[in-house]
Amino acid sequence: MTTVKRTHEITLIPGDGIGPEVSGATVEILEAAGAATGVAFEWHRFAAGAEAFKQTGEYIPKALYDSIEEDRVALKGPVTTPIGGGFSSINVTLRQKFELFANFRPVKNLPGLKTRYPGLDIIIVRENMEDLYAGLEHVVVPGVVQALKIITEKGSTRIAKFAFDYARKHGRKKVHAIHKANIMKLSDGLFLSCCRKVHEGFSEINYHEHIVDNTCMQLVMNPYQYDILLTENLYGDILSDLCSAFVGGLGLVPGANLGTECAIFEAVHGSAPDIAGKGLANPTALLQSAVLMLHHLNEGETAERVQAAIEQVYAEGKTLTKDVGGTSGTRAFTDSVLAALQSPTATAV
Ligand code: ATP
Repeated sequence: MTTVKRTHEITLIPGDGIGPEVSGATVEILEAAGAATGVAFEWHRFAAGAEAFKQTGEYIPKALYDSIEEDRVALKGPVTTPIGGGFSSINVTLRQKFELFANFRPVKNLPGLKTRYPGLDIIIVRENMEDLYAGLEHVVVPGVVQALKIITEKGSTRIAKFAFDYARKHGRKKVHAIHKANIMKLSDGLFLSCCRKVHEGFSEINYHEHIVDNTCMQLVMNPYQYDILLTENLYGDILSDLCSAFVGGLGLVPGANLGTECAIFEAVHGSAPDIAGKGLANPTALLQSAVLMLHHLNEGETAERVQAAIEQVYAEGKTLTKDVGGTSGTRAFTDSVLAALQSPTATAV
């Protein structure tokens, strides 16, 4: 075992549903990878949502807020949001509280998986705090409800800047702003005018605008035409699930919620109650979110090791979970990644 060179303090929210299973696997793999590269982790664990309410009387305990504020980095499993009533989404509340304005979701094929669109590599950059997610709804009169869609110049400009900055830094060629400004002329119109203005400073990057419904059709017909999708909050949520299907489903796609002070890394998928507690969940999405987290922590070597081990397991294809066509469960998949970390093949790091 290599001597510990650095220790990272990370707030860990295992979540509910399949959360404890996928976060357990992720922590195990990160610790094994870190042991080989001299990186240690100190996990500060907290429940959130219904589980936290049972324990503390709060859906997001103050100690959890304090921990994220102090650690500035969190790894989060899915937390169930009740449908139609009950408490507000924990995800949305945390994004608001820590001003995590950018939701970054890379959608990329893994080797060995047979998908309809091999070699796909799209990034979704989703505004994370505004739009219909502001949660401003009220009953105007019985039988009539109003939900307010909030789009601001500040929010649209900073997410557009994030997308173009990322494109420039990582050599991406194209940004598509996704909208419905033919109907929502003021709100989506403002979003587009901000995107156009930001693009003026990034003339080497191709900029296009697509209407969201057409984008769904275009994505299914030919997703390769897209590089970075720059979206408002709701369109980004919907397009994320659609795009995840191109590369094998929700069990694979990672995400990062980024602000100027803090970052929370979480999979695109929810708590998947249909398979919770059965040992069937695919931890890849959270694991790849943890890879994004390692890059964010400047732990590139450890990040690449974990990514290489994941890719090795997919390339071998012997212990994949059911959601991606395999017959194995969470444990067998996790063990294979751990084994791949110990004995990488020639192509792996
Ligand atoms: P939310 O609205 O909270 O994001 P959702 O409605 O998108 O949740 P999920 O909980 O993400 O729903 O699950 C959707 C489907 O995808 C379910 O059938 C679930 O079993 C499957 N699924 C999601 N995540 C995984 C995973 N990590 N491994 C295997 N299957 C998964």
